[in-house]
Amino acid sequence: MNPKPAMQNHDRHQAEPILEVAIDILAKLVSFASVSSEPNGDVIAFISDYLSAKGARVERLRSPDQEKENLWVTFGGDADSEGLVLSGHIDVVPVTGQTWTKPPFSLTRDETRVYGRGTTDMKGFLACAMAASELFQQGKLRRPVHIAVTFDEEVGCQGARELVDFLKQRNIRPAAIIVGEPTSMAVVDRHKGSVGFTTEIVGTPAHSSQVHLGQSAIRIASELVNELVVTGEQLTAEAADAAFPYPYPSINVGAIRGGEVRNIVAASCTLDWEIRPIVPQQLVDIRQAFDQHVAEKMRQYTDAGGLIPSIVTHVAYDTPPLVWWPTSEAISLAMKFADRNDASAVSYGTEAGIYQEAGFSTVVCGPGDIQQAHAADEWIAIDQLEQCLTFMRRLAHYVAEPV
Ligand SMILES: [Zn+2]
Repeated sequence: MNPKPAMQNHDRHQAEPILEVAIDILAKLVSFASVSSEPNGDVIAFISDYLSAKGARVERLRSPDQEKENLWVTFGGDADSEGLVLSGHIDVVPVTGQTWTKPPFSLTRDETRVYGRGTTDMKGFLACAMAASELFQQGKLRRPVHIAVTFDEEVGCQGARELVDFLKQRNIRPAAIIVGEPTSMAVVDRHKGSVGFTTEIVGTPAHSSQVHLGQSAIRIASELVNELVVTGEQLTAEAADAAFPYPYPSINVGAIRGGEVRNIVAASCTLDWEIRPIVPQQLVDIRQAFDQHVAEKMRQYTDAGGLIPSIVTHVAYDTPPLVWWPTSEAISLAMKFADRNDASAVSYGTEAGIYQEAGFSTVVCGPGDIQQAHAADEWIAIDQLEQCLTFMRRLAHYVAEPV
């Protein structure tokens, strides 16, 4: 026999029921196919009913187009301030075009994992927060605990932006926001932003035997691409942040579409490109330099008195970076609850940058491996759910402590 210490047995005994509760909730959450393009009222109603039955104050926040809802949940606390927020998005990416060997919208469990769309990204975290609501006993908290459920993270973080507007309107100033995107329960204190642009260039078509009568949109596009490549190379002169695999802000032109056939001067060309800033100022600087370059080009065309092209750039999406903020309360709390001594950077974007941009102390820490996000046969390790529940227990203990 190899008896375990009594304390460990005690922990195990306590851990199992809440883990089973979390997995039951996760099964229910997965059964709602809350793909970003679909209305989410049914799953929001389920979460709302569940948490209000646990004594929370719940507010369903309908988006102006009436199709989607955010959910803002409050346990305890007298004032709408100093709260701790557990934040997650409820939308998932589609399964179309993927080969699944398990049903995507019904939870499958084996010895060590549960499978289903959203288990990692990020219904597993929300299930743990909901299961932990047992611990956020109404009236015994010295600081409020909030659960924020947002829509459309996967298609531009629209829900998080509306939630920020709501918090500002209501003058709610949470002390810390923990975004439970999958980090394998590591504390993530920074990530790059991701801002997409589309530049549309319209020139003048002509037969290729008469090139002097036309103005090639492809040629103009190639000059702009070159400008962006040169700017991208110059960015390596910025202070490197060794926490990132590529330690500088970056620019990528990911797609070019233009022209019709070989013997026509191209009338139009479109560039899809992206900036990944480490801090917001880099985005401002790069965009400004690009706009100035375009303005200078347009001035040259006008001065030359010939054909004048149209060059228009618009923002396709804008996810701000999560900027390193070492004194942030969210980071120190997340390290305490995750029992970690260090924080790290990730290369993917999350809603955290939007909350931080609004002035809230924000950190990313959630169960599951990012490799599983958006994958076929998406799964989360049961051990990750257990670790997340341990995090929630420490959080509940912290807010329940006497001042
Ligand atoms: Zn996500």
